[in-house]
Amino acid sequence: MYGAIQKELTAKLSAIRDDGLYKNERVITTPQGALVSVRNGKSVVNFCANNYLGLANDADIREAAKRAIDEWGYGLSSVRFICGTQEPHTMLEKAVANFLGMEDSILFSSCFDANAAVFEPLLDAECAILADSLNHASIIDGVRLCKAERFIYEHNNFADLEAKLIESGKSRLRLIVTDGVFSMDGDIADLGTICDLAERYDALVMVDDSHATGFVGAKGRGTHEYRGVMGRVDIITTTFGKALGGASGGCIAGRAEVVEYLRQKARPYLFSNTVAPAIVGGTLKALEKLSASTELRDRLEANTKRFRDGMTKAGLDVRPGVHPICPVMLYDEHLAHEMADQLLDEGIYVIGFSFPVVPRGKARIRVQVSAAHSTQQIDDAIAAFARVGAKLGVIQRA
Ligand SMILES: *Cc1c(COP(=O)(O)O)cnc(C)c1O
Repeated sequence: MYGAIQKELTAKLSAIRDDGLYKNERVITTPQGALVSVRNGKSVVNFCANNYLGLANDADIREAAKRAIDEWGYGLSSVRFICGTQEPHTMLEKAVANFLGMEDSILFSSCFDANAAVFEPLLDAECAILADSLNHASIIDGVRLCKAERFIYEHNNFADLEAKLIESGKSRLRLIVTDGVFSMDGDIADLGTICDLAERYDALVMVDDSHATGFVGAKGRGTHEYRGVMGRVDIITTTFGKALGGASGGCIAGRAEVVEYLRQKARPYLFSNTVAPAIVGGTLKALEKLSASTELRDRLEANTKRFRDGMTKAGLDVRPGVHPICPVMLYDEHLAHEMADQLLDEGIYVIGFSFPVVPRGKARIRVQVSAAHSTQQIDDAIAAFARVGAKLGVIQRA
């Protein structure tokens, strides 16, 4: 039997290779950090991790995770409602809710799971979901698991959102769902306008803040803080696998009854294992650090500004914004990959992104700045971009 599918898969794999879309994985031989080594032993400065606050290999978090293993064990071999809930799990749910300014929260193994969990219990066939067209894959999949009617509005186009709110007027319940930060562009969603529309048309608002929790906003609470709408967003999903230590785990935070109901009904919560004690201990420590001081998110903000200003001055086409996701626009697919390869030779680890991850003709290198980068590393990266950019003829002269 296998013969037929083997043949088919082999053909599909070579088509992926022929289209230049095959994803090779580079093996890193060190822990995650500003400086990592790749297989040939070469040390490179890492500008493509979601390690925004440099907590991925933080000594306090490592220590807290080890302590959690010693005190609470390696694993629980259970889902939460049977025998998988320890004190730290409930402490983390309170801590996350506090940090985000929400009433309660519920843990998942990942934000992907949180997004798979959130829609189906809350919305049935008489309800509607209004979703930004550039939302993350996990939101798209979560929406597919639910029977609600779908309305996809054009990215950031609020006239279109309003038209769809009018069109869906007969639905019993409506939920607007958006990424807080869009990961390919670094755009921050205009939650002020979204919340205004939600109030005018009686809809709920859900934000996936995976690329914001911990550092966007003056206290790092996320895009709802940055946009001044804390208290007006009903549901936030987010990950512990990016700024908050970068291991894994995620949550849904929201109104008390929403979280209580999800605890009864959400399938990835009921039928998938509890979050491991080490992850719980490490994430609690990350939240404790970020609640005590804004030093890390402040440093990230300063590094981001230095990088964005320096790159623009050097004549590179950086998509404007304030987020540490800095898309360096090359437009041409081959050029983006060629430039990323040459930058790696210069010790700068960045990745080119092209279709289908971004639209055709909008290829780019996505640089991600971290609080862990030194000013020297930021300046070196700008200089390397300028050198390689000049060689490849992409520097714009004012
Ligand atoms: C990274 C990301 C996720 C997935 O988070 P995991 O915890 O790694 O599953 C979900 N949504 C958005 C917007 C993300 O950027």
